[in-house]
Amino acid sequence: MGEEWNQETDAEDREHKSFFARLKEGLTKTRNNIVRGIDNVFSGFSTIDEEFYEELEEILVMGDIGVNATTQIIDRLKTQVRENHIKQPADCKEFLMQSIKEQMQVGENAYDFEREQSIVMIIGVNGVGKTTSVGKLAGKYKAEGRKVLIAAADTFRAAAGDQLAEWAKRADVPMVGGKEGADPASVVYDAVNAAKARGVDMLLIDTAGRLHNKKNLMEELRKMDRIIDREFPNAHRENFIVLDGTTGQNALVQAREFGDVAELTGIILTKMDGTAKGGIAVAIQSELQVPVKYIGVGEKIEDLQRFDPGDFVDALFDVEPEAQAETVAESVVERETESEPDPVEASFDEAVSEDSSGSGWTMPAWALESIAQEEAARQADPEREQEDSAGEEKKEKVSFWKKLWS
Ligand code: GDP
Repeated sequence: MGEEWNQETDAEDREHKSFFARLKEGLTKTRNNIVRGIDNVFSGFSTIDEEFYEELEEILVMGDIGVNATTQIIDRLKTQVRENHIKQPADCKEFLMQSIKEQMQVGENAYDFEREQSIVMIIGVNGVGKTTSVGKLAGKYKAEGRKVLIAAADTFRAAAGDQLAEWAKRADVPMVGGKEGADPASVVYDAVNAAKARGVDMLLIDTAGRLHNKKNLMEELRKMDRIIDREFPNAHRENFIVLDGTTGQNALVQAREFGDVAELTGIILTKMDGTAKGGIAVAIQSELQVPVKYIGVGEKIEDLQRFDPGDFVDALFDVEPEAQAETVAESVVERETESEPDPVEASFDEAVSEDSSGSGWTMPAWALESIAQEEAARQADPEREQEDSAGEEKKEKVSFWKKLWS
């Protein structure tokens, strides 16, 4: 028995290490984007003064970490520096890392649903990795001994059902589906009843990304919601939005828009292998008050894992995980949960262009404008002094965040 347990923990340890290695590798571009700049500030300043903090702040904002998160990270760092009588900029690095970790802590109860009888709805636009994530999660829960059922409620595309059936086979879990064009709510009805009848622990529902406007999306999600509430009122409910980590600010806009129509309880952040915009992982939690619960670092079944802020920051800063383990464990903080989402309408309806990838996603006009301005500022004058263009870019980023909150 003891030996068996040891083998299991060894296997878990190996899996954790290899996931960490892939994460570290995947964050290379983000590291180049953020950590290099931070290191330059640490080595370029001889004293800790306002200018030092301003430089740090600029790098974090430019690295897509978000204005709120950056302010909180820097404020916490200032307190630590004061309390620990730190004099050398280089000595701040540990504290900065710790501060970012604290910024990203997931609430203690975030994963309770994994042990309960749960229904998890997976939402998000096409192409972000919904189907893949459902398949990977099914494999993970099944391996943990849970009884899993998948519902293929994306009936808009025949291919979506086929793709999910492939994943169900790979994960060795059953799937309930419907014909192309069938009412997704009827698939949910069948799946929920099958889950009840078979004593399923975890029902994962893959939903359609392509819904042309916010009103349709809202109606569709509400309908599914009502059916689940009626048919299985005691189930633990989770709504996860899947966001593509390579899309940076666009991902935030999607989360905000979906947050208006569904009560989001978690984020699955995919494609963290090879994005320069990994800073978004820090921003999302702070800006939207929704925790990142899983991250994806590749296309294979083992490439999706629980999000661990300690590992994430260690991987980002290229530090081995054990070194930080204790301090992170000590710093679990409760997150505030979002109050009622705002009423719907406006921004989806003012959306202007659907993106050409066929994601079914329409960017609201304000976001398109803001991102286009940022792009234009970057491209307008490549000869411009680096500092000037950085200043402009920072202004554009700050204006983006302000619009996101408005
Ligand atoms: P959906 O339309 O939202 O259901 O998206 P899919 O699940 O079909 O995924 C779209 C593409 O993204 C597929 O080619 C997936 O293999 C790929 N993908 C999903 N997650 C990841 C990830 O973490 N890393 C990488 N590199 N690719 C991913």
